[in-house]
Amino acid sequence: MVFSRNMTTTIIDCYTDEPAGLGVPPYLGTYPRYIYGRLKHDSRSEEIFYLTIDDIRLYRRYSSRIPETKPNSKTNINILNLTRNWSRTKEILSGTDRLIVILGVHVPGKYLSAVPGTLKEVLGYIEGLRCYKILTGPAATEHGTQLEGGKFAKMPDKGAFDETIADLVTDYDDIAKAAVKGAEIQKQISDLRIAEIETGRGCTRYPGCSFCTEPLKHRLEFREQRDIHQEIKALIKNRIRHFRLGKQSCFYSYKSDGANCNTKEIEKLLKPISEMKPDVLHIDNANPMMVDEPATRLIVKYCTAGNTAAFGVESFDPDVQEKNNLNCNNEGIYKAVRIINKHGAARGENGMPKLLPGINLLFGLIGENKGSFEHNISWLKRFVDESLLLRRINIRQVTPFEGTRLYSEAGSRFLKKNRKHYWKWRDSIRRSVDYPMLKLVTPAGIVLKQARAEVYDGKNTFCRQVGTYPLIIGVKQRLKLGSSYDLRITGHMLRSITGEPA
Ligand code: SF4
Repeated sequence: MVFSRNMTTTIIDCYTDEPAGLGVPPYLGTYPRYIYGRLKHDSRSEEIFYLTIDDIRLYRRYSSRIPETKPNSKTNINILNLTRNWSRTKEILSGTDRLIVILGVHVPGKYLSAVPGTLKEVLGYIEGLRCYKILTGPAATEHGTQLEGGKFAKMPDKGAFDETIADLVTDYDDIAKAAVKGAEIQKQISDLRIAEIETGRGCTRYPGCSFCTEPLKHRLEFREQRDIHQEIKALIKNRIRHFRLGKQSCFYSYKSDGANCNTKEIEKLLKPISEMKPDVLHIDNANPMMVDEPATRLIVKYCTAGNTAAFGVESFDPDVQEKNNLNCNNEGIYKAVRIINKHGAARGENGMPKLLPGINLLFGLIGENKGSFEHNISWLKRFVDESLLLRRINIRQVTPFEGTRLYSEAGSRFLKKNRKHYWKWRDSIRRSVDYPMLKLVTPAGIVLKQARAEVYDGKNTFCRQVGTYPLIIGVKQRLKLGSSYDLRITGHMLRSITGEPA
């Protein structure tokens, strides 16, 4: 039934966020592209429609009429990411034979310009529809989904869907064809999208970190360069010019043995993409223990500026690192930060440093106590003191997903024990590390080019450059949304900066 022929199919994208892979606008994830491509290729669906949860909300809450925007009103990010099909949502849904809902968040976060749909929300919208319903994406795994950090995951009500399948297109040979055909999905999207590109899945470490679902979901596998190049070529043909090689657990581990980088294979991957002259080419996740100078030089050479290698550090407390089988130790992290700064800290064509490290921290891991915070803050302050740049520090509360060691051994024990400290810990990092770090990374007076006006908040506009972990720049005027501006930096907040058109 999933790919049977001659049916009108509608894909509803409720957006996805996983340790390896982002599909929340402005990102366009791999799920909708692969599914669309597979349907096109195999099942010859009569028609395939792509709708976002924003289209469905607009239809169900506002009868598919875009509410008037008042001069001082905040952008309603629940209905911002509409497809070209938004005005025909009712008609499309009523003519649908097969409905594929893509949903699931495994790394809960806050998003500037989108709100992922939850199971409860989408079920409320689709329960009356008479069609064959399939749930796919992270929510369809045995780990469920959770939009808020620190809470247990929600599992899908199996009775609500005819089928629940985590990945509809799984095999890398099938993905090679589907990814190329799937690029056409962009024809149904009117806005700019950054395509999240998959380079591999699974993790070089097994068993992996106590909290992580990635090694449980996938065995280690890498995509062929040729397939990735074909996909990017097709996406460029369909007007997508921004790319993030972000769907993998560690970019530096591409086709490696898990101990040393395979620079030959990394160059074979990056060089042809850079020759296609994309507007943006960035990466995402990196295991600091894999970072070396030759691979870092290649990333700096072939990718565009403003790039970030996000390190899944999770904790600087050696005891927490050991109890949770985390992937790195503090000396290794420090060395990786130094290497990336050595090759990537110079400013690039868009005004940002070419490549910087990012640090992810997780609260609620096994063994966490007050001392863990002391380890975190002292290492982070050392980076500031030594002017070693970090692009961003991401702090989340862990979600104990079923099937992980964290779930069976501790559940929410450490979250409950330490939750009372979290606000203070987070605030202390924001004030004593993020704030001085932002001043180092983006000193007042520099110009950040091509920042896109994304949302309004009263008389202010929030803008971001397109790419991986772009800084939020607040501008004290209402700029035209969707347009890009060169912005001169005027000030610094705890996690964002302020600017004015240059
Ligand atoms: S290193 Fe840890 S967090 Fe990263 S993918 Fe592997 S198991 Fe998950």
